Amino acid sequence: MTQAEKERVPIEKGFFTIPRDPSEPPSLLGTRCRSCSEVFFPRRKVCAKCLSQDTEDTLLGPRGTLYTYTYVHVPMFGTSRTDAQGYGVGQVDLPEGPRVQAVLSGGAEDFRIGMELELQLETLRENRKGQDVVIFRFRPLAAA
Ligand SMILES: [Zn+2]
Repeated sequence: MTQAEKERVPIEKGFFTIPRDPSEPPSLLGTRCRSCSEVFFPRRKVCAKCLSQDTEDTLLGPRGTLYTYTYVHVPMFGTSRTDAQGYGVGQVDLPEGPRVQAVLSGGAEDFRIGMELELQLETLRENRKGQDVVIFRFRPLAAA
């Protein structure tokens, strides 16, 4: 497969990492408050809990727990054939603290509240430079 050598770029910078090795899971880019230890995603300069500006970047994931979800029975705009049946959107609790809203990988029957999920990157399309444009999703661990 040439997939491994292909450069991957985020659809939007600053939200997740892209490991050089495609078999490695990505991480979400969050912020930890040095004053009160609260963790946030996405990143922020000021702590929403104690208003401290003494914050630092931190990596989150790749595991999470499905808090709740819905399934959209309409294909997502601009996505590949794997999404032709619709897609799940979930709120995922990260062990580090934040609850993240994210697209879920899988069919309408694949999700259960409380199940363990794993972060993954999915290629949306190829850009003009021949790079894969990727987004993050969570998929059920059992289906991996
Ligand atoms: Zn704080």
